[in-house]
Amino acid sequence: MTLPTITDIRAYFMGGASSSSGGQGGGDYHDQGSGHWIDDHIATPMSKYPQYEQSRQSFGINVLGTLVVEVEASDGTIGFAISTAGLIGCFIAEHHLSRFLIGRRVDDIKLIHDQMTNATHFYSGGGGVVINTISCIDLALWDLFGKVVQQPVYSLLGGAVRDEIQFYATGSRPDLAREMGFIGGKIPTHYGPHDGDAGIRAEVERVKRFRGLVGPDFWLMFDCWMSQDVNYAVKLAHAVAPFGVKWLEESFPAAQYESYAALKRQMPPGMMVTSGEHTGNLVAFRTLSETGIDVLQPDVGWCGGLTSLVEIAAIAKSKGQLVVPHGSSVYSHHAVITFVNTPFSEFLMTSPGADEIRPQFDPLLVNEPVPVDGRISKAELTKPGFGVDLNRACPLERPFVH
Ligand SMILES: [Mg+2]
Repeated sequence: MTLPTITDIRAYFMGGASSSSGGQGGGDYHDQGSGHWIDDHIATPMSKYPQYEQSRQSFGINVLGTLVVEVEASDGTIGFAISTAGLIGCFIAEHHLSRFLIGRRVDDIKLIHDQMTNATHFYSGGGGVVINTISCIDLALWDLFGKVVQQPVYSLLGGAVRDEIQFYATGSRPDLAREMGFIGGKIPTHYGPHDGDAGIRAEVERVKRFRGLVGPDFWLMFDCWMSQDVNYAVKLAHAVAPFGVKWLEESFPAAQYESYAALKRQMPPGMMVTSGEHTGNLVAFRTLSETGIDVLQPDVGWCGGLTSLVEIAAIAKSKGQLVVPHGSSVYSHHAVITFVNTPFSEFLMTSPGADEIRPQFDPLLVNEPVPVDGRISKAELTKPGFGVDLNRACPLERPFVH
């Protein structure tokens, strides 16, 4: 078959704290209404300032909002994807990166990715909102390619290595996650170094209570969202070890490599160190891998897209490390089902009380699959591209036109 060429790219914005219609969820899953578990006293690098301790929205975690990128081919096929880059991402996609897509064949994904990456070094800093935007465009290109050739993205990557993906759940209720069939539950830490030993004792009480509710074999993990120092993380790890905590996640900011290496050296036997959701380029992932941590956790919407995620998975594979992406729904599912070093994956609970299954990017995707009994089967991923449609009932704005 003769493949069509790319004729247009359109970037849309939704929600975000800078929008009059904030609190939309979608690609920016932190942008939720009040009373949601994901904004309830989660320890962060800002927690040491009392006015920002209770709510991550108070320091602006939801300021960006959702970016939606659509790419259209000469045969009329449209691919799309979502990420977290908001108005800034719209500007970058329309006014800068559109030039690398128009006129290219729909299978020129790696060439376009390389040009987008190299053309933005001067202001990307190797990560952040620029790479979020590149990720979104890259995912939209994979979606378009899959829809043109009528194949699911996982087939384009070489095919599935397992028949189903099993998930752990991230949220505030591991006890309910167990009842829903998940293999584990990851909870955010609520305290940090500014809380001292009292904070560690409080975390011990939390995990002790959950261990009592979920029994001995269900996985429990802590997500520390860059909030700790090495001494606090080591003390916490040893304090919660008797309750079978499986890993400490993202104790430090992404580039604090020496801290990760130091934590890994001092962990209790059997407890893992994980990180990577805020790491934004391949060199940084290689350096993170070399610290010896156990699991790399790239976010496919923030790490450079699917094209980069495949390369990051190869780095991990070469060192015997796991790659378990930061939960990104279909954009992760189609990748991880092809990775031999991803034996399980993450599902982010976006219901306010983490008490029911809600699609992660609700309300933006139509036909977004969710785990049933903690699993999604390969048979649910057979539709072309990423297998989802854009919900055009959402309040999408196109603020810039290339
Ligand atoms: Mg995390």
